[in-house]
Amino acid sequence: MLIDTSATGLVTLDDGTKILPPNLIITSLDKIVNWGRLSSIWPTTFGLACCAIEMMAAGASHYDFDRFGIIFRGSPRQADCLIVAGTVTKKMAPVVRRVYDQIPEPRYVVAMGSCACTGGVFRTYSTVQGCDTFLPVDVYVPGCPPRPETLLEGMMLLQEKIRKEHFRWSPWR
Ligand code: SF4
Repeated sequence: MLIDTSATGLVTLDDGTKILPPNLIITSLDKIVNWGRLSSIWPTTFGLACCAIEMMAAGASHYDFDRFGIIFRGSPRQADCLIVAGTVTKKMAPVVRRVYDQIPEPRYVVAMGSCACTGGVFRTYSTVQGCDTFLPVDVYVPGCPPRPETLLEGMMLLQEKIRKEHFRWSPWR
């Protein structure tokens, strides 16, 4: 909602953003950069098990992640997000970590599904009991498997997290 706050014609758009009609916007660099970053989250293409099928469905035409600027990239070096979709075995964990290490900062991790969050039903010697044991997870998406809508909500939570960041995009942070 637009509220006229002063006699100068400046109109408050939201907290910390004002516009002078018709086309002058006054805001902070944080807000502009965060808005750009949250509107263009690029997860790296990486699936581990059955949850990856739901992740692929989320990226396909019916759910259409592209409309949120979420576009899967074939290389971690061009991505800023890792969706851990599926069971992580102890043999696979170093590979997942290497993919994460190749993503440039600032980067984010979404744990998708019960297996990635906690190990799920696999209480076995070979399964990692949650990818947060070797990765800094930003958002947990529960379910076995979570539906594409659930993953979408997780990505929207990540967007809200990025919106509130302060100076994280800077090399001097
Ligand atoms: S959470 Fe369920 S659907 Fe996802 S990888 Fe584990 S067993 Fe498969």
